[in-house]
Amino acid sequence: MLPIERIKRIKELVQKRQVIKISELSNLLNVSEMTIHRDIKPLIDDGIILKTFGGIRLIENEANLQDDNLCVVCNRPIHSKLSYRMILPNNQIEIACCGHCGLMREQQLGDGILQSICQDFLKQTTLSAKLAWFVFDTSIDIGCCQPQVLTFEKKEDSEKFIKGFGGITIPFDQALDLIHNKMN
Ligand SMILES: [Zn+2]
Ligand SMILES: [Zn+2]
Repeated sequence: MLPIERIKRIKELVQKRQVIKISELSNLLNVSEMTIHRDIKPLIDDGIILKTFGGIRLIENEANLQDDNLCVVCNRPIHSKLSYRMILPNNQIEIACCGHCGLMREQQLGDGILQSICQDFLKQTTLSAKLAWFVFDTSIDIGCCQPQVLTFEKKEDSEKFIKGFGGITIPFDQALDLIHNKMN
């Protein structure tokens, strides 16, 4: 089986079962646990699964995200299209209303966050925030927190966006510093 087929199979299994052990996947797919660890990496990066002790777990999708949730930082209602989710130890999940509040919370919790998932502003797909491109100072009004922060999966997309609407695009670490400076 090709790695791409195995990854697809792992995705199907975890979507059906919610939780699976690495050892079980290794048996089922007849490859070493090391290979399974390599296979699950893209699924983790895409925000589809979370690594747990000895296994993987499906991350709840948008359908399960309740609209009456409030932002953990500013208490605004959560708009799933802009939401920024943070997975903490003990399977606890915190949700921020947008990239702005997500970055604020990242600053507060630091390494206490296992994984963060944001939305691509154009495609509405989920991605790992650590890999996202953060757009600041754009002229479009998204109706959430100021200064606005939009998130994009691809650098090219964010660059095209700022050509039309202005602003700058920066990776995660720089975005953390910039929000800190802007808020002080
Ligand atoms: Zn907020
Ligand atoms: Zn917000």
